[in-house]
Amino acid sequence: MRHVETADAIVVGAGHNGLVAANLLAEAGWEVELLEATPHPGGAVRSGYVTAPGYLSDLFSSFYPLGFASPVLRGLDLDLRWVHSPAVLTHLLPDGRAATISRDLATTMASMEQFAPGDGERWKSTYAEWRELSAPLLDALLTPFPPVRTGVGLLRQLRTAGALRMARRLVLSVRDLGSELFEGEGATLALAGCALHTDLSPEQAGAGIYGWLLAMLGQEHGWPVPAGGAQQITKALVDRFLGLGGRITYDAPVSRVLVARGRAMGVRTADGRNWRARRAVVADLPAPTLYLDLVGSRWLPSRFVEDLSHFRWDGATLKVDWAVSAPMPWRNPAATGAGTVHLGADLNGLTRYAGHLATDELPPDPFLLLGQMSTADPSHSPPGTESLWAYTHLPHRAKWSADEIATQVARMEAVVEAHAPGFSRLVVGRNVFSPADLQSENPSLVGGALGGGTAAAFQQLFLRPIPGLGRADTPVDRLFLASASAHPGGGVHGAPGSNAARAAIARDRLLTGKLYEAAISAANRAIYR
Ligand SMILES: Cc1cc2nc3c(=O)[nH]c(=O)nc-3n(C[C@H](O)[C@H](O)[C@H](O)COP(=O)(O)OP(=O)(O)OC[C@H]3O[C@@H](n4cnc5c(N)ncnc54)[C@H](O)[C@@H]3O)c2cc1C
Repeated sequence: MRHVETADAIVVGAGHNGLVAANLLAEAGWEVELLEATPHPGGAVRSGYVTAPGYLSDLFSSFYPLGFASPVLRGLDLDLRWVHSPAVLTHLLPDGRAATISRDLATTMASMEQFAPGDGERWKSTYAEWRELSAPLLDALLTPFPPVRTGVGLLRQLRTAGALRMARRLVLSVRDLGSELFEGEGATLALAGCALHTDLSPEQAGAGIYGWLLAMLGQEHGWPVPAGGAQQITKALVDRFLGLGGRITYDAPVSRVLVARGRAMGVRTADGRNWRARRAVVADLPAPTLYLDLVGSRWLPSRFVEDLSHFRWDGATLKVDWAVSAPMPWRNPAATGAGTVHLGADLNGLTRYAGHLATDELPPDPFLLLGQMSTADPSHSPPGTESLWAYTHLPHRAKWSADEIATQVARMEAVVEAHAPGFSRLVVGRNVFSPADLQSENPSLVGGALGGGTAAAFQQLFLRPIPGLGRADTPVDRLFLASASAHPGGGVHGAPGSNAARAAIARDRLLTGKLYEAAISAANRAIYR
C-alpha cells in the first residue's frame, strides 16, 4: 500500500517564503507539513563555512534592507539582533572616486556634493520625499495585489497629481531618474548600482524605482544584517514554526502536485510517497517548476501554458567568497567601513556591462556587488580579518564551461585588486559558486537566476509571473504560489509567502471560501480562455 501522510497544508520548499507561509498557517491553527528538497532549510538564506576555518560566509543573500523594513517579517516578531556596518554602501568609480550612502544623512550629502554642487541638498530633498511615502509605499508593495486598503493610504499621501508622477517614476530608467533628480554622477551611480542588484540595465524601464527604493531604504534603515549571519533568519523562522507544532521533512523533493477535478489534493515526493493536503498546497517554487514540472499542462488552461512560455528568468549569477587574513587594503578609505561596495564600472561602464549581458557575452569588465561581512558583523571572522564575497551577473545560459567560469573569476579578482592592491596576497581561502553550483545547492536558483524571474516591468505586479491577477491563487483550486516568482518578487521580505498563506486561509473559509473560489475561477476563465 502507498504511504500517505496527511496535513491541513503541505508547503513545498523551505525557503524563507515557504517558512513565512508555514508560520502563518500554523498560527491560524492549521496542521502544516513542510517538504524541502535539500538537507537544509532557508533556500537562498543560509550561511556556512566554505572558505577557511573560522570564516563564516552567507552562501547567497547577505543584506536585508527589505527584510528589516518588511511589515511581514516584522509581524512575525522574529528573534533576531540586527547589526550595521559603519556605512551602508560605497560605489567606487574606476577613477578612484567614491559615492557613499551612510545612515547619517549629512555624511551621504557630503559624499554626493563632491560630484556636483547642490547634489547634497538634492539628495536630502529626495530622501524627504521618500520619508513621506515610505510606510504606505512598503505596505502597498508587500501586501496582495491589487493593494486595495494599503493603496488608499498611499493615494491619500500622494494625492492625484503625485500618484500620476509616481506612475511615471515606476517606469523610468535609472539613468533617466538619476539625471532628473541629480546633477552629478555620484548620486545617480549610487541608485544605478542598487538597480543592478536585479537583472535590470541602467537604461531599462522600471530600473529607476528599484535603485531609488534600495538606496532610500539604505538611507532610512541602513542595510542591516542579522548578528551571526543570514542563517539566523532561517533559524528564527524554523524555530518559530516548530514551536507552533509544524513539521519539516528534509531530502524530500516534490515531484508532482496531485490534482483531481481541478483541485490540489496533495503532493508526491520523488521517493514515491504521497502527502495529502486537506486544505491547501502552498508552493515556494519558481513558477515554471511548479506549473510545468509538478502540475503539468493537462491541468492548466492552454492560454496559461502559452503565457508561461514567455516567462523570463533573470540573468545568471557567479558568486565568490573569500577569507581575507587582514583588513581590506582599499585605496579609497571610503570603502573601508562600507558593508556593501559596488565596483568595476561608472555609469557608462554599467551600460556596457549590461550590453554584454544582453548580447550573451561574458562582460570583459564585470561590475561587482561586494559584501564585507566582518565589517557589518564581526562574528563572521577572526578579529582583524574579513569574510568577503562578491557576485556578478552573467547571461542566462543552460551551461557554462569551467574555463569560462575561471576566466570570469580572474576578472572579478582583478577588479578587486585594482581597488585594493595586495588583496590577492591576503586571500587564505576561497569558494566559487558558478550558476550550476548555485542551482545544485538550491534547485530554485534555476541557471543561477537569483530573483525567481526577471524584475523587468513586463513581469511585475499583475504581470507576475505571467499576465493575470498578480495574486497567489493559481488555475488549480487550493494550490498557491508562494515564491519570489510571485508578486512582489525577489528579495528577502516574505511577502509572497504571506500573500499565499492569506489566500489559502481566505479560500478555506466555510462561508466565503466558495465565493472566493468562484470569483478566482471566473477571473481565470476570463483571462486564460
Ligand atoms: C547570490 C544571491 C544573493 C542575494 N542577495 C540578496 C540580498 O542580499 N538581500 C535580499 O533581500 N535578497 C537577496 N537575494 C534574493 C533572495 O535571496 C531571494 O529572492 C529569496 O531568498 C527567495 O526566497 P524564496 O523563499 O522565494 O525561494 P528560495 O530561497 O529559493 O527557496 C526555495 C526552496 O525550495 C526548495 N525546493 C526547490 N525545489 C523543490 C522541490 N521540488 N521540492 C521541495 N523543495 C524544493 C529549495 O531547495 C529551497 O529551499 C539573493 C539571492 C542570491 C541567489
